[in-house]
Formats: sequence, structure tokens, C-alpha cells
Amino acid sequence: MIREQFRSIYGRAPDIVARAPGRIEFIGNHTDYNGGAVLGASIDRVVEVALAARPDDVWQFASDGRPDLISLPAGEAEKQAGASAWVNYPLGVLASLPGFGRLPPGGFDFLATSNLPIGAGLSSSAAIELASALAFLEAAGQALPRPQLVELARHAENQFVGVPCGILDQGVSGFGRANHLVYIDCRGPRFELVPLPAGAHFWIFNTHTRHALVDGLYAARHRECMEAARALGVPLLADVSAEMLAAGAALLEEAPLRRARHVVEEIARVEAAVRALRAGDLAAVGALLTASHRSSRVLFENSTAELDFLADHLAASPHVFGARLTGGGFGGAVMALTDGAFDEAQARAVAATYEAEFGVAPAILHARTADGATLVPVAGR
Ligand code: ADP
Ligand code: MG
Repeated sequence: MIREQFRSIYGRAPDIVARAPGRIEFIGNHTDYNGGAVLGASIDRVVEVALAARPDDVWQFASDGRPDLISLPAGEAEKQAGASAWVNYPLGVLASLPGFGRLPPGGFDFLATSNLPIGAGLSSSAAIELASALAFLEAAGQALPRPQLVELARHAENQFVGVPCGILDQGVSGFGRANHLVYIDCRGPRFELVPLPAGAHFWIFNTHTRHALVDGLYAARHRECMEAARALGVPLLADVSAEMLAAGAALLEEAPLRRARHVVEEIARVEAAVRALRAGDLAAVGALLTASHRSSRVLFENSTAELDFLADHLAASPHVFGARLTGGGFGGAVMALTDGAFDEAQARAVAATYEAEFGVAPAILHARTADGATLVPVAGR
């Protein structure tokens, strides 16, 4: 598919194709910047990137979602604004390569395509970064070990695009595997695959809501977490045990104490989820997901009426193991872990109930786990 699209835009076949999946935050809400653990799933929705060398010194970019071709002098990774701003993702990867001891390729034609919803909290940004990174490295006859590849993509987003995302997005898109979850110890970071018991499905309900003050609210939560760690005499909340928190509770203001309780207990829930997954106990995993949502609502206070409605409704539905908000909160999406009998009709019924309450239907996405970022063999090469 991407080969035909590439051919219709550029009049020839691509030399290189790479793909990277979107991801779900499975459990571990706001644990990453506290040095804790998180579990994510790479899903069967991807961004693909196709590339062909050009004889001249031009980098030319196209995307299936955008009408215009963008041409830049090769080697000049200048940040773009307005309608061209999407190229900052591949451009950020190109600009970050030297810091990782690699060179950007010479002139090329580039196309990105996607069957992953963009801007829906499934991390299309990490997917386009990782697919681009694999394609650019290949074009210049180079490679990077996976941990550095993931860091390169994150560097592009943090430093070039200017979005302070944690390692979850790139780590899961880079390390994911079908029928597995990716466990990340964010302090290392250290990545580990955890088998997902057979028969597990993900249903995502995106409310398309976004709190107007979301950036400020994230910053406030970050500050409260760091304040709590400082008051407890540790660098990060991941260093705090439940006993330490109980003993030090009197040292904390009310809000930082609630945030700290969420983070400490959420990290413990991630570890408990890994044990339950390894035991094949999806019912126990689901109970942890539902408990995670309750904690986000009551202690971290980053849920909304829309997210609570969906999470509560889903958690009480047949064939659902558990449900929680997924991502930063203050709007966004809810994820349900279900068995194979949960179907489109049931999902639509949930969406209709939500619509009756809030006046708009959430977008529904049924996802399975899938492999992480990879080069795709190009026929005839
Ligand atoms: P999310 O990562 O949750 O999808 P972000 O706002 O972090 O949302 O990233 C979305 C941005 O990534 C888009 O606005 C666009 O700039 C870029 N992007 C992702 N996928 C593509 C694509 N296939 N083509 C062009 N731009 C893309
Ligand atoms: Mg993103």
C-alpha cells in the first residue's frame, strides 16, 4: 500500500520501508517521571515510512494526511512552523542523529502513512519518529542498538519538537512484541517483555475531550510529586515504600500526600500486574486496572466525569476484566481489557450510553498487541 502511494507521489518505488506501532499505556499512571515502572502494549496500528535516495541534496517530505510536499536543503534541520510542523518529527530524528554518533543520509524522498489515529493518545508521534529513525539509519548504511534507537526518538521529541514526553511512548513502540506487554523501569530505563495471556483484547474509547489547562495541570502534578519526594528526603517517589510514606505522612501537605500515595501504590500495582500476567490471571490484572483508575480519580485527581463514566460503565460490563483511563488524564481515552466475546455491538452500546449522557459519541478502537518498530523487507532488493 505505501509502495503504491510512494510511486504515485514520486514516480518510482521506495528503497526502504519501515514501520512502528502505536502504544497503549496499560498500567502505571504518572509513574514514569517519578522513576517508577509502567506497562505498555504496542498495538496493530502503525505509522509506515518509505524512503528513496535522490541524486541531489534535497530532503523532500510527504504524508498521506497532508496535501503538500515539503522540500528542504539536505543537512539543514531547521524547525518548521504552521502546516509544515509535522515534519519536525522526522526532522528532529535527523537533527538528533549526530548526538548518537550517526550521520543523516543525503538527499531523499520521504513518505509517511498511518492507520493509527493521530493525536488520540496512542502515540503516533513516537511511531513516526521510530519508523523514520530506522529508515534514515538504513539509508545511510548504519544501525543503532534498540535502547539507543528509543532514546534517539525520544530526544527528537523532547529536544527538537519540544514535547516533554516520558520514555513510555518510544520504549513501547521500540520494544513491543505481539502477545506481550512491555515493562519499563523508567529510571534505567530498563525494558522487559511480559507475556500477555491468550484471549486478551483491548478496547479504547476516546472521548476527544481535553482540559483547557492540561499543560498547567501536568506541571502542577509534577511539582507536587517532586515536592513530596523532597519532603520525604528522597530524589524520586520511586524510592519511597508504603511504610516510609505512612511514617512520613505528617511531613506532607494534603495534595502532595495524595499524589505520593497514588504514585507509590501505582508502582506497586504495576509490579502486581506483572505477577498476575505471569500467572495467567487476567481477572486479577483487570482488578488492578480498575483500582488504578480509582486511584487516578481520587488520589491523583487527573480523571474527568467523561473518563469516570466510561471506566465505571466498562468495568461493570460482562466480558470486561477491568478498565482505566489511559495516558495523562484530564481528558483523553479509557482502555478496557476484555475477553474475546466483547464485540463491536457491545462497544457501540457503551458508546451510545455515553452519548446519551454527554451528547457526543466516543471513538471506538479495537486493538491487539503487535510487534515493535522494524524495517520492512522491500521486494526485489
Ligand atoms: P499522539 O502521539 O498521541 O498521536 P501527538 O500530538 O504527540 O499525538 O503527535 C501527533 C503529531 O505527530 C501530529 O500532529 C503530526 O505532527 C505527527 N504525526 C504523527 N503521525 C504522522 C503521520 N503519519 N504523518 C504526518 N504527521 C504525523
Ligand atoms: Mg505523542
